[in-house]
Amino acid sequence: MNLARVAQRLGITVDRLQGLQETIIRESAWPKPRLLRFEKESSGIEAGTTIFENGEIVFGYPKIRRPLMLAAAIERHFSDTLAVEEKMNGHNVRILSINGEIVALTRGGFICPYSTEVARLKIPEAVFEKHPQRVLCAEMVGPENPYVASNIYPTDGVDFYLFDIAEKNYKGTLGVDRTHEVAEEFGLRSAAFLGEFHKENAAEKIKEIVIKLGRQGREGVVMKDPENLVPPLKYTSSRTNCSDLAVAFRYYNDYALDFFVSRAVREGYQSVEWKETQEERRARALSLGESILLPLADTIERAQNGENIVQKVQIRVKSLQTARDFEYHLRRSGIRTIFEPPEPEDGGYLIRITKLVMSTNDKTQALLNGEMW
Ligand code: ATP
Ligand code: MG
Repeated sequence: MNLARVAQRLGITVDRLQGLQETIIRESAWPKPRLLRFEKESSGIEAGTTIFENGEIVFGYPKIRRPLMLAAAIERHFSDTLAVEEKMNGHNVRILSINGEIVALTRGGFICPYSTEVARLKIPEAVFEKHPQRVLCAEMVGPENPYVASNIYPTDGVDFYLFDIAEKNYKGTLGVDRTHEVAEEFGLRSAAFLGEFHKENAAEKIKEIVIKLGRQGREGVVMKDPENLVPPLKYTSSRTNCSDLAVAFRYYNDYALDFFVSRAVREGYQSVEWKETQEERRARALSLGESILLPLADTIERAQNGENIVQKVQIRVKSLQTARDFEYHLRRSGIRTIFEPPEPEDGGYLIRITKLVMSTNDKTQALLNGEMW
């Protein structure tokens, strides 16, 4: 690897690069090709930035910030108009071609064997033929997403929804227009474009959109500057905040405290900004309360009945090797699982996976036995 060239592409000195290699840059030799990845953000380089052994760099997908007061934040942040896209609820992948083969990188910069297999099936090679530098930023969604399983999208497996395009070796992305053009050109699905609004009346429009999306069980929106001059912002529906909480309270000891607090606080701001009546606020309080208490009580009762608290997901793979590789990938990501024997199905295999939530299990057993919190 040519360190000078890599450092130049990263926008740092060779010394700094060598310093980072001893601290936050980690090597990943598997699956091939070998790569280096940024475990954390540093020197303005996003976490998940990946350097392949041939020196090509794929920058990490930037974090998207979230306002709590929508109208005030839009006024401050955007200069004129904003494009609104649906926020898809799955996991972020960056799909690219390296040495002539398609791979899918996770947010953290690992090659995910399962996402890669799906990408090779669903993304036409032609996307990269004239543009080998292209990087597709897409959300992988569907009931067979093992990280965030969701039934609300029109797929019974998993699908990619393109939401941005990047180029190898360049920070930054090409923005809304290019993304939808490329999606159209290659017949890829993309995150729905829900309109472009002037910042004066955008908050009101977005409120309506988010309420409607919420009713359909959809997550929310990402607001983008049509010229890509300022970073995007995200905003989610109450239904999403509550269903996130429901999952987190079901496995309450396996989530960080901030996950709970941030979602409860969002509900408070949304209720105030939308000037809810007493009645509306009570209805919100009820669904918020239900999303906390019902899954929590269910978990405790299950544990009381001697049941192990687990999370069941499933994937479908073409090759058994992908399943084995994915098992290893989850293990190295710190996720403990049991893979059931593969069930042959339509030229592939259905794999049922049980995710173990050890911490919630142990804590619940201990508390049921009278231990102190
Ligand atoms: P972040 O690190 O960006 O704050 P996060 O990991 O907490 O995010 P989210 O809250 O889901 O994740 O929000 C950002 C993510 O939303 C993006 O990284 C992307 O994967 C996903 N996403 C879904 N739809 C879109 C869209 N239309 N535009 C941009 N990102 C989208
Ligand atoms: Mg997400």
